[in-house]
Amino acid sequence: MTAAHQIKMTTKVKSRTDTSQVSVLIVDDDLINLLILEKMLKNMDLNIVKAGSGQEALDLSDKHDFALVLMDAQMPGLDGFETSKQIRAVHKNKDLPIIIVSAVSKTKEFILKGYESGAVDYLLKPIDQFQLKSKVTVFCKLFEQKRLLETRNSELSQLNLQLSKEISKRKKAEQELRFQVIRDPLTGLFNRRYLEESLEREISKAKRQKISLALIMLDADHFKNFNDTYGHLAGDFVLKHLSDLLIKNSRREDIACRYGGEEFVLVLPGTGPVVARRRAEDLRIIVDQGDRIQYRKKILPNITVSLGIALLPYHGSSAVELITAADKALYQAKGNGRNQVVLAEFENSQIVPEKHTEENAPSA
Ligand code: GH3
Ligand code: MG
Ligand code: MG
Repeated sequence: MTAAHQIKMTTKVKSRTDTSQVSVLIVDDDLINLLILEKMLKNMDLNIVKAGSGQEALDLSDKHDFALVLMDAQMPGLDGFETSKQIRAVHKNKDLPIIIVSAVSKTKEFILKGYESGAVDYLLKPIDQFQLKSKVTVFCKLFEQKRLLETRNSELSQLNLQLSKEISKRKKAEQELRFQVIRDPLTGLFNRRYLEESLEREISKAKRQKISLALIMLDADHFKNFNDTYGHLAGDFVLKHLSDLLIKNSRREDIACRYGGEEFVLVLPGTGPVVARRRAEDLRIIVDQGDRIQYRKKILPNITVSLGIALLPYHGSSAVELITAADKALYQAKGNGRNQVVLAEFENSQIVPEKHTEENAPSA
């Protein structure tokens, strides 16, 4: 019976996932040598795996994770050096420590060859048990530390992954919340809360930059009648359509808000009276004479809107003053018959809107 044959029957190899014991592969074509080695390592709490040939060692090292290989130098077929070379050529075994076991008489001849093949150490036959055990202990400890480090590393990356997932989830939730807080759910426009927040900011900016700012208040005419005639859902649909028109006719720096019900506010930074009136008039015409809206296979009549305009610095210097002035102008537009634009009056005739404001204002 060959050594390899007998070994196959007796060898038990722990699976890669079994972390309880460290595995050491011992390779020798002589069964007696294998048994001696195994006996010497007996009390070390190791999983000793025996291979009776270079080929068998290759197969085992492919399938399992060993802490160390004790490799006989001289074997028929694949010798210890060639086997070592082939074992270390496999990526997962590139750092697997291999100790070449050779006869004293061959030491000098084999040392260079052994290192070239990837061996890390030598043991001379006849083997000294103390030397053997201390070398095996060192390599097995190194292996255990490496394994522990790998486990920690993978736990850490797992944790990192979880953390980044959690962070991006929270960021998304925060963005969603921020969106909900400042947007009107029906139209998607900014809401009144956002207007109050941003208008003061825009006013301060305009004052700093010494440019004017227009505030247009827009209200759907006779919208109660519209709802009563076509239904509240059709009314919602029209409000949404109206909002889309406002967005479509806005510049990047404008702020379009749903102020409440069927009332909207447009903030136009850098806009003076001439451009503000033109923009408001354009909107009025687009709403009145734009494409008819189709809702549930029904063509709805176009609504009309009334618009009131107030300007910084001519009609107020704070958000409240400008909103009040624009509301007053809107009220006048309603009183004058609706579907029209009213620019708040310039109370002090001394104040003439500055020409440069219009020239600097980006066109709509
Ligand atoms: P005016 O020309 O004077 O503005 O007349 P109006 O009927 O538009 O004004 P009023 O203030 O009398 O009524 C406002 C209407 O707007 C009544 C209300 O049902 C409607 N409205 C307010 N919010 C909504 C909304 O979210 N959806 C719909 N469909 N209607 C709304
Ligand atoms: Mg109205
Ligand atoms: Mg109203």
